[in-house]
Amino acid sequence: MSDCIFCKIIAGELPSKKVYEDDQILAFHDIQPAAPIHVLIIPKKHFASLSAGQPEDWAVVGQMQRVAAQIARELEVEDSGYRVITNIGANAGQIVHHLHYHLMAGARLAPLGV
Ligand code: C5P
Repeated sequence: MSDCIFCKIIAGELPSKKVYEDDQILAFHDIQPAAPIHVLIIPKKHFASLSAGQPEDWAVVGQMQRVAAQIARELEVEDSGYRVITNIGANAGQIVHHLHYHLMAGARLAPLGV
């Protein structure tokens, strides 16, 4: 999508600090980290969120979770613990409307809630 920031990162039109890439998935450090380790994992195919996923998208969504676990292992936060979340829509605070998982680690994270 031409006006999507994450599509521009995928296309190399905007910089990112990559931590993982394959033919379907990209992961990079969040530009405004909310934890000592804050990585975003995104599909290269543009769709807005889990709510916009089509039947053919669930395989890559599963792979994104495999990649999250792999990155956590590589960044050595597996034992101390980490969080993987995705925000969907306004009430959840979704700002970028291209599906992404946040992988957050490196400190004791605040409980989820309002
Ligand atoms: O889930 P949500 O849409 O709120 O999160 C978007 C995330 O994308 C934010 O954490 C923001 O810092 C990150 N971002 C980024 N690089 C950009 C634009 C946004 O890492 N160029």
